[in-house]
Formats: sequence, structure tokens, C-alpha cells
Amino acid sequence: MPKSILVVGAGFYGAVCARELFDLGHSVHVIEKRVHIAGNCYTRPKLECGCHEHVYGPHIFHTNSKKIWDYISRFTEWTPYVHRPKARYKGVLYSLPVNLRTFQQIYGVSTPEQARRKLESVRHKIESPDNLEDWCLSEIGPDIYERLIRGYTIKQWKKDPRELPPSIIKRIPVRLNDNDNYFDDRFQGIPKNGYTSIFERLLEGIPVDLNTDFLQERDYWINRYDHVIYSGPVDALFNYESGTLEYRSLRFNSVVEKVADFQGVSQINETDESVPYTRVIEHKHFNGDFSKPASLITYEYPEDWSAGKTEYYPIETAISRSKHRAYIEQLDQLGLPITAGGRLGDFRYYDMHQVIGSALRSVQTLAQSWK
Ligand code: FAD
Repeated sequence: MPKSILVVGAGFYGAVCARELFDLGHSVHVIEKRVHIAGNCYTRPKLECGCHEHVYGPHIFHTNSKKIWDYISRFTEWTPYVHRPKARYKGVLYSLPVNLRTFQQIYGVSTPEQARRKLESVRHKIESPDNLEDWCLSEIGPDIYERLIRGYTIKQWKKDPRELPPSIIKRIPVRLNDNDNYFDDRFQGIPKNGYTSIFERLLEGIPVDLNTDFLQERDYWINRYDHVIYSGPVDALFNYESGTLEYRSLRFNSVVEKVADFQGVSQINETDESVPYTRVIEHKHFNGDFSKPASLITYEYPEDWSAGKTEYYPIETAISRSKHRAYIEQLDQLGLPITAGGRLGDFRYYDMHQVIGSALRSVQTLAQSWK
């Protein structure tokens, strides 16, 4: 029996759920509070610079899952891309992620064996490090930690690294060879025509209302549909009645530089605590046209979050996670026909491929429960 389904949010979670439920024969309607689709992955053409602008921060698609890669490749062609960011500390550019070049720059060693021995000698011996700083000191020692990680982390999270879980940093590989590919995954790329084109294709044939905030008339929407897929923050869904979860927000300042190539690389992390921004992005390096004599540069500033601002990053502390669990339990107890998911609904620091995987699983679970 076909259901009528409202999908709240046209990011990856909402758009993949919408596509799959629509293809299973259900009646699907998408609403999105922004004036465009694609959530935080939204890109738009910047013709004078010959590139797509990654409006809410740079997005590199990467996954180890052939299933996810094949799925999303139904909706786009790819420009092959390998992410090789750099870190700038006190005016010096370092190779990132940590690899043999980084060891050479900092310690003057040049072979994997020398780097391994150096690493052994500088590592702090900490048994079961349970915070980000201790974990870094025991993995990479104080020099690399100071130049590549510490200042960046403090700016990004506005927290003492000793209060943060090591899981935030475990994403960064440490290599004793020349491999400076930021990601270990088998598949990596940038959509040839920008991310927004993926969402146009995902949402083909499905009605979408932009500029429409579910929370303005929550009960009205719930009463009109059999089921709601919600990809916004769950604390906002309950009007913050049991308190807010923790988030970090961002501000982007973009300028056009009158040069074909401004910094030679897509991303420079500013790891010096005294520089107020965390990253400098040159969008053209993702898949742009270097014959154009102009380039779009974005400076990314971390900001405090308060209700009404965009929740770019969930801060997954133990307190936040338990508050999130309590909100989800409340959803169940009230018997509301709502599935919360995605980065905000699940309150997880998900990458795009993880959100797509989670959306596919949510649809499977729902379809099963409706049989
Ligand atoms: P979103 O993309 O946030 O979509 C949710 C949508 O719901 C939004 O459009 C929002 O406006 C809408 N919405 C919320 N509340 C309501 C409401 N009440 N009514 C109507 N609409 C509502 N991932 C990678 O894999 N690689 C990267 O390089 C990468 N870089 C990133 C850089 C930055 C700066 C950020 C912030 C994230 C990055 N990510 C990256 C993560 C990626 O953006 C997310 O995994 C993905 O966008 C999450 O999709 P989503 O649908 O859960 O959320």
C-alpha cells in the first residue's frame, strides 16, 4: 500500500530517501527551508573564475564502498581528484597528512626507517590516551602536534584539545612514505557538473518546495502525511525543551583574486592559533579552468553556534550524545511518525558517503515495517 511521505531537507539524507521511496511507488513531497536544494553540499557555477563554488565549505567525495560509489555514480560523472591539502604554520607550508615529507621538513630525516626511529623517540608513552591531545602526543609527538594539529583544533572546536575525544583526529593518517593523499579510500572524485546537479537528478520527478520551514508548522505537516523523514536537528524539533545539543557554526568570506592560480592547491589549513580562519580554499583546484585569469578564494572562520545559526558540525561529547538519545527516545514514546536521520538527525560527524549509506538503510527499514 503506497504511503504519503514528507521529506524535510533536500541534503543527501533527504534526497536519497526521497528518490528511493519514490521509486518504491510511494507519494513523496520534499520541503527545504533554504532557497536551494543540495544541503551543505550546494555548489553554484562561478563563471568568471571557471569553477564551481562550494558554498558551504569544500566537499570531496570519497568512499571505500563500491556499493555507495556505484549508487551515487548513477547521478553524476566524476572528475578524478586526489585531495592533497597543505598546512601553514608561522608562514611555513607543511605536507599534510603527516608523511615522509613532513618528517623531512621538521626533523631533516629522509628515509622511512629514519622517520620511524624519530617518531619512536619523540612519541610520549601514554597508556590508553583518552583525549585528543594525549592521543596525538602518543601517536606523533609534540612537534608535529604543535605545527599541524593543536592550533587548528582549538580554533575549530573552541575547546581545549584535552577535552575532546581522540575520535575527531583519528581520521588523519600518519604515513612513513611519500603518499600525501588525505584519504585512504578506494574511490575519490568531484562531480563533473558540481554537487547541485547530483541533487537535481536525485529529485527528478519529485515535488520540492523551497523556502519552507517544517518547524514553522510542525503539527500541520505531521497530520497531512503518513510518515515524515526529518534531516534537521532533533533539539529544534522539540523546541529545545530539554536543552540544546552542542554544535559549531562557520562563516565564509569569499574573494575573487585576479590571478589564474592563487595558492597552487585546493586547501591550506591555517594551523597557527593566531590566524583567525582555519582554511583557505581555492575552488578552481577541484575541477576548474585555469585558462581563466581569476580565482575564487574562500576563508573559513569557525564560529560559536546559537539557536538560529546553521549547525555545521555536531560536537559529539558524551553529554551531547546522551541528550540526543533522550530526544530520540521521546520521539518513540510520543509515537510520532517521524524518522530522524542524516548528520543532524543522527547527530553524527558523518561524511557524505556515510549519510547516503544511512539513508539507504533507513528506507530499507521503513519499507520492511510497512509490509
Ligand atoms: P545537510 O546537507 O545539512 O542537509 C539537511 C537539509 O535539511 C539542509 O538543506 C537544511 O536546510 C534542511 N533543513 C533543516 N531543518 C529544516 C526544516 N526545519 N525545514 C526544512 N528544511 C530543513 N563530507 C564529505 O564526504 N567530504 C567532505 O569533503 C566534506 N566536507 C565538509 C565540509 C564542511 C564545511 C561541512 C560542514 C561538511 C562537510 N562534509 C563533507 C559533510 C557533508 O556536508 C555531510 O555529510 C552531508 O552534507 C550531510 O547531509 P545531510 O542531508 O545529513 O545534511
